[in-house]
Amino acid sequence: SVTTDAALRTSLPDVYAVGDCASFPSARYGTRLLVHHWDNAVQGPRTAAANIIGAGADGASQLLAYDPVPYFWSEQFDRFVQYAGHHGGADTLLWRGDPADPAWSVCWLRDGALVAVLAVGRPRDLAQGRKLIEAGARLDPVRAADPAVPLKSARADAP
Ligand SMILES: Cc1cc2nc3c(=O)[nH]c(=O)nc-3n(C[C@H](O)[C@H](O)[C@H](O)COP(=O)(O)OP(=O)(O)OC[C@H]3O[C@@H](n4cnc5c(N)ncnc54)[C@H](O)[C@@H]3O)c2cc1C
Repeated sequence: SVTTDAALRTSLPDVYAVGDCASFPSARYGTRLLVHHWDNAVQGPRTAAANIIGAGADGASQLLAYDPVPYFWSEQFDRFVQYAGHHGGADTLLWRGDPADPAWSVCWLRDGALVAVLAVGRPRDLAQGRKLIEAGARLDPVRAADPAVPLKSARADAP
């Protein structure tokens, strides 16, 4: 793989790397990520292009960091499978539903915050979970483990 900095720059001047070949440091997950999925190959170039033309928050002097919530979807044995996040550093795994059933999800938490979600036939869990991960939201583990409770209603700080 090609090692980049947070702005997707390689060690060679004016050379950027994106997609399957590029390993980047993720501040969100506190580790280097090498993501082999289509969404990453689409999103990375936005940041690289912005940095090349100097479109960072502070003009050319401020480079944008690439720090996505990784995402992929696939179809496996007629099941719609989606995953968002990175669960390498997770300390808690919660099932939402029974994996013997056609539709179920898994949530991974780290220090109470949602860091990754795997949804099989439950696209709402993925859509809501992705936003919760981006927000660094903490979940109530009891409510989050109840598939009848929408994930967005399982926030630990929900009213
Ligand atoms: C079988 C399979 C199934 C997959 N399923 C999914 C899925 O369900 N969901 C998902 O999100 N992702 C999936 N992926 C991953 C996804 O396809 C990749 O993450 C994505 O295509 C990466 O895009 P990329 O542009 O980084 O690399 P690539 O798409 O590999 O593009 C690299 C290009 O560079 C060219 N190239 C290589 N070397 C040179 C060279 N020296 N000179 C010029 N050109 C060169 C190659 O020919 C290629 O066209 C799958 C991948 C495979 C192989």
